[in-house]
Amino acid sequence: MAGNRTLAIIKPDAFGAGKAGKIIAHLEAQGFKIICARVLHMTTAEAGAFYAVHKGRPFYDELVTFMSSGPCMPLVLEKADAVAAYRAAIGATDPAEAAEGTVRKLYAESKGRNAVHGSDSDDNARHEGMFFFGAAALI
Ligand code: ADP
Ligand code: MG
Repeated sequence: MAGNRTLAIIKPDAFGAGKAGKIIAHLEAQGFKIICARVLHMTTAEAGAFYAVHKGRPFYDELVTFMSSGPCMPLVLEKADAVAAYRAAIGATDPAEAAEGTVRKLYAESKGRNAVHGSDSDDNARHEGMFFFGAAALI
């Protein structure tokens, strides 16, 4: 059975532009419940560790620089089938390809500066939740 939690991040582009409240309201209106939340400005080492799975990809350095460029807002969100439901709510990685009404269509600037992160599996949701919140993400 699919899990009911996922890890979201309101990325530095959207957080810095004051869009966090609108994005959270959009997600809450779709039934996502906030379990954990914080604001932090990641170091390049922290952003590099979080995105280690992408190390070696052409966009990795740009991604790490972007994610450590300002404060961001990690969230653990709860909803039935959370990983799939949240990825449907945020839309495709590139906002130009994201469906109407999705968070990235509404709030993202580009494929790199794309407003939000979302876990891609239950295992990664647990791992990423632990990264930012420790065991509190699991309770
Ligand atoms: P997603 O965030 O939709 O799961 P990926 O896991 O493939 O997408 O990529 C992680 C993040 O890396 C993306 O959200 C985006 O910020 C950045 N990224 C991915 N592909 C590119 C690209 N071609 N150019 C610039 N940035 C990219
Ligand atoms: Mg991904």
